[in-house]
Amino acid sequence: MTDLTNAAEGRDDSLDVSLRPSGFSEFIGQEAARANLQVFIEAAKQRQAALDHVLFVGPPGLGKTTLAQIISRELGVGFRATSGPVIAKAGDLAALLTNLEERDVLFIDEIHRLSPAVEEILYPAMEDFQLDLIIGEGPAARSVRIDLAKFTLVGATTRAGLLTTPLRDRFGIPVRLNFYTPQELVQIVERGARLMGMAMTSDGALEVARRSRGTPRIAGRLLRRVTDFALVEGAAEINRKVADKALLRLDVDARGLDQLDRRYLTTIAEFYGGGPVGIETISAALSEPRDAIEEIVEPYLIQQGFIQRTPRGRMMTALSFQHMGYAVPQGFAG
Ligand code: ADP
Repeated sequence: MTDLTNAAEGRDDSLDVSLRPSGFSEFIGQEAARANLQVFIEAAKQRQAALDHVLFVGPPGLGKTTLAQIISRELGVGFRATSGPVIAKAGDLAALLTNLEERDVLFIDEIHRLSPAVEEILYPAMEDFQLDLIIGEGPAARSVRIDLAKFTLVGATTRAGLLTTPLRDRFGIPVRLNFYTPQELVQIVERGARLMGMAMTSDGALEVARRSRGTPRIAGRLLRRVTDFALVEGAAEINRKVADKALLRLDVDARGLDQLDRRYLTTIAEFYGGGPVGIETISAALSEPRDAIEEIVEPYLIQQGFIQRTPRGRMMTALSFQHMGYAVPQGFAG
């Protein structure tokens, strides 16, 4: 059981426990999603019923796990976390489900990676709170039906399109999370610095925020590293200059692009004339899995206008040529 439920932990955020917002009042940004969730939670509490199943969709590090924990806390119920790839067999999921209490929240990260056999078990569990198990094999096999506590499943995925339609349709509350604005990230960074007891000027916070790829997890990580540099160099506070120097040493450029982002753009520019070029080709050229490129690298580059997705492949834009220090090719249409 422990193996199945600790999968969402163990990320590189060592100070995560203290920096992670514990209630809606500490959770910054995602206004619309938060306001709606608060209404649905309040309604579920008034009805004294389990909250409908929730699906969070959005790039890594935007707060899906955090929101799932907040939901359970606001509902005043238990919280269990696991992830799709960890649940290998139908029996693993059955063990998790039968241990839930009324209205508990079960969080499944990377829910698109559940195996089809496990997904089959999940359908009746989500819909009717029942578990259909086959016991035994061959002619002696029989099916038993077990009633489950009425729980809330909170699923998280990077793209809704990765889920099978029957699974997606069983979530009553789909919630899309978007990249954070620099202003929202400033608040997150300032809160983090306060919790870590590090003095920071507002231009220092803005510098870290602007270069965090719209992502709180990256903001937290950069803040910790910038704080390390400031401490070791004996800087009394993190101002813009201290932040900029540390971020350049961390290979984070002025627009927040990291090494992989820049390798991606350089490859398209130098080998494929700025595109269009197919994702498989890019993946092979970079020796990075296609999934990682589509889930981690591209969403932010697209949102920032650095690349376009066309039917013929990925294309750079005038902005990305300029940012990477190339002349925009003559007659370039991107
Ligand atoms: P995901 O599950 O989407 O990958 P997490 O919920 O694990 O993301 O969040 C990643 C990190 O970012 C955590 O350390 C969390 O504390 C922080 N974080 C996420 N959203 C916010 C927010 N709105 N305000 C402050 N910190 C946040």
